[in-house]
Amino acid sequence: KMSVNSNQVITKLISLGVMANINQEIDHDTASIIAEEFGFIVVKHEDEVASEETNEQEMLDFEDKEEDLIERSPVVTVMGHVDHGKTSLLDAIRETKVTEREAGGITQHVGASTVKVNDKRIVFLDTPGHEAFTAMRARGAQVTDVAILVVAADDGVMPQTIEAINHAKAANVPIIVAINKIDKPEANPDRIKQEITEHGLVPEDWGGDTICVPVSALKKQGIDELLEMILLVAEMEELKANPNRRAKGTIIEAELDKGKGPVATVIVQKGTLKVGDAVVTGTAHGKVRAMIDDKGKRIKEAGPSTPVAILGLSEVPDAGEHLYVVESDKKAREIAENRKEKIRMEQLKTTQKVSLDDLFEQI
Ligand code: GDP
Ligand code: MG
Repeated sequence: KMSVNSNQVITKLISLGVMANINQEIDHDTASIIAEEFGFIVVKHEDEVASEETNEQEMLDFEDKEEDLIERSPVVTVMGHVDHGKTSLLDAIRETKVTEREAGGITQHVGASTVKVNDKRIVFLDTPGHEAFTAMRARGAQVTDVAILVVAADDGVMPQTIEAINHAKAANVPIIVAINKIDKPEANPDRIKQEITEHGLVPEDWGGDTICVPVSALKKQGIDELLEMILLVAEMEELKANPNRRAKGTIIEAELDKGKGPVATVIVQKGTLKVGDAVVTGTAHGKVRAMIDDKGKRIKEAGPSTPVAILGLSEVPDAGEHLYVVESDKKAREIAENRKEKIRMEQLKTTQKVSLDDLFEQI
């Protein structure tokens, strides 16, 4: 295509230190450099780009063997209509169950809390509501194993209750209904059960399979029962992960801290994330410089279903991005740079398209 003969190409290759012969295949990068030497710019064919991306994704997203999987803790999201008590319920759980912050611990908002129940753990995402849930799902991220649907017993099923039900169903996440505010004289749990039944959630005591727990976030009633039910549902889900592999997780929130630089909270989903690991998440890459758990304690390792704040990323990633540990810093940077380049190309395509359209309009 360049109309130069093979000898010229081979000579150029050799001058660049590649001892090539005429039957040799050279990789894309080398070919691009050579082409540039002859004054050409190489553009990758879209199929080629797509297949490289699939390979990259396969390399990052490898499956584990069944025998390597062990039980992991459930990750829970609290959803429901505004003012039905999501925040109060999370506070009540935290106040009754979360152990004190480490003395001398680091004040670092982690965006999730770990609760110990008997010898098990439950992870609660701090951001309630289905907006967070939807934002994550829009990125193909699913971190939630169990959804708690809070419905105020003095109010009933409302628009956001229905939305929450639909989101959880679409994501195939089991729902536990927390009928809240039962301390109120006008509370009517039976009416709530009637209303949720109309939306396909038939309570267990009515012959269905939806677990309903009457609670009062205000009076801290029913909290233990609710936690037990979460563990029961989690057990039925048979949540498992392989802790002995390169970690994969999802960013649940991230921010730029003036002193610490980009800080991202990750829920580790597979494998064990370690300080010193090379990671890539979206267009951010880096080496995990430090990890802080939800108690403000510096930790060196975080296994499946552990929320941790990590330091050391090159930029602030978006919530919902997957985070992968890769073999080296170099690889992490390479993947991040490729992703950036792709975004740049996409943007270029759109702007070019727009300006062409504008041009035609003018003609
Ligand atoms: P959110 O919008 O779903 O996060 O709801 P909040 O947790 O902010 O609660 C809304 C209001 O309901 C607040 O004034 C709470 O004090 C009140 N509230 C929450 N839970 C209960 C409860 O169990 N009983 C009563 N009486 N009030 C509650
Ligand atoms: Mg709230």
